[in-house]
Amino acid sequence: MNEVVIFWFRRDLRLSDNAGLHAALLSGKPVLPVFIFDKNILSGLDEKHDRRVDFIFQAVQDLSEQLRSFNSGICIKYGTPDQIFSQLTVQFNIHAIYCNRDYEPYARKRDEQIEQLVTAQGIEFRSFKDQLIFEPGEILKADQTPYTVYTPYANNWKKKFTDKHVAAFSSVSNPNYFTRVPSNDIYSLEELGFFSTDLTYSKPEIPYSIIANYDKTRNFPALKGTSDLSVHLRFGTVSIRQLVSVALETNETWLGELIWREFFMSILYFFPRVTDQCFKPAYEGIRWRNNEEEFERWCSGTTGYPIVDAGMRELRSTGRMHNRVRMITASFLTKHLLIDWRWGEAWFASQLLDYDQAANNGNWQWAAGCGCDAAPYFRIFNPYEQTKKFDKGLEYCRKWIPDLNEVSYPPPVVDHSFARQRALDTYKHGIESGKS
Ligand SMILES: Cc1cc2nc3c(=O)[nH]c(=O)nc-3n(C[C@H](O)[C@H](O)[C@H](O)COP(=O)(O)OP(=O)(O)OC[C@H]3O[C@@H](n4cnc5c(N)ncnc54)[C@H](O)[C@@H]3O)c2cc1C
Repeated sequence: MNEVVIFWFRRDLRLSDNAGLHAALLSGKPVLPVFIFDKNILSGLDEKHDRRVDFIFQAVQDLSEQLRSFNSGICIKYGTPDQIFSQLTVQFNIHAIYCNRDYEPYARKRDEQIEQLVTAQGIEFRSFKDQLIFEPGEILKADQTPYTVYTPYANNWKKKFTDKHVAAFSSVSNPNYFTRVPSNDIYSLEELGFFSTDLTYSKPEIPYSIIANYDKTRNFPALKGTSDLSVHLRFGTVSIRQLVSVALETNETWLGELIWREFFMSILYFFPRVTDQCFKPAYEGIRWRNNEEEFERWCSGTTGYPIVDAGMRELRSTGRMHNRVRMITASFLTKHLLIDWRWGEAWFASQLLDYDQAANNGNWQWAAGCGCDAAPYFRIFNPYEQTKKFDKGLEYCRKWIPDLNEVSYPPPVVDHSFARQRALDTYKHGIESGKS
């Protein structure tokens, strides 16, 4: 059997400007592309009409289609990665496994396990930086510890940045580099225990004119004022190097958002305890009310606060929500309703098409006030003022709440001024007792 090099696709579902794939193709051995639908992850998803799984499925089919023009394809598997690699090592004469690094706690453990498994059989395991411009550990304070505040992190990021960080990895051209892929194991979502959804995968398009005006339009949910690229960044159907190049040419505010993404990845990497704990330990002292009925009203978009309800309904019916509205809904849950940010985080995680553990966790902790670089807890968003500022004509609210002016629309779940004072008292008291 001829030796092959496996390229293991994960959060990098593209052929062009893909660091690990590029390196695999230069290895001199034929490359066998592999994608694994990870049973450990899929079995944790209760909803079987999951747009994320559908997105991945369609993106992988698209890759497979592109690879067909090189007489290749993707070996698509379903199982736990250790089972699959145990099978692949029997099926193929594997020289090495190449992949791009993934920094989430689960992924790190998984990769360590696979590395051990295959190196014990004399197979090399090589991983590459692809998902980020600077990976955790590359941007550190002078004393070599991680930043926990965004602005100095971003300043250092910009200082260290040079054009070489966005040099693209040349795309695939020589068909002989790929190996023929034997028949796939997976042909449909149903074989994974999932169903198709309303999602239609389309390749990312970079909205240059939106990005150019980003600083002026980004806060208005009724406008098409943001890039809508988060899902592509999440699954790597677009290259971060390409996007940073665009940002540098067009809009510094937008570059700042891409840096937030790397900042939160660094936080999760160095402080994995944030997965289920407040970054600021004193905030564990807060006595959350955790009223289940009110939580249900928040989830279903029936709080009687139009901007909150519009966002929650948009989320449920599309898997998307504008950033400004994410901030308002998250603040409302944690401050107005005094429901534990972990409940909200989990709900977003189950619904968001662009769900990303680091960004979701970092932003939830920011909104709840307990995060590394959070706004002070006593700054409480007023949903009415936010609406006046960012959805003055109620265009966004009306889009998602057709019965806004009808009797069927519920009254507010709680009075704003009352809830504000209650949040101030509860937080103050909680943080004090959490300190002791
Ligand atoms: C409570 C809450 C939860 C969130 N959960 C997620 C999540 O699970 N996944 C996710 O990608 N983003 C999350 N965000 C951040 C942000 O809302 C989305 O990235 C953004 O709305 C996606 O739209 P866009 O692609 O048009 O972004 P743009 O505004 O065009 O920004 C470009 C890219 O920068 C990154 N980015 C922008 N804002 C942030 C931010 N605050 N933190 C980290 N990265 C950012 C994203 O990758 C985004 O695609 C969350 C924000 C809040 C307040």
